[in-house]
Amino acid sequence: MDPPAGCCFHTRCPYAIERCRAEKPALTESDPGHWSACHRSAELTLEGALEFGAAGA
Ligand code: SF4
Repeated sequence: MDPPAGCCFHTRCPYAIERCRAEKPALTESDPGHWSACHRSAELTLEGALEFGAAGA
């Protein structure tokens, strides 16, 4: 196990920016009961998971 510096997903995340490579994101509560550890969680609107959930049911 040798995770990369910064966000552990930055080597395969299509939304990674320079900050992702340098700084590990903190776990923060964006809405009551909804937590994320992503530098871009407040600016990205990703509907892929919702679409997958609807199609994969
Ligand atoms: S912090 Fe968010 S945008 Fe950046 S690499 Fe990690 S998951 Fe992707």
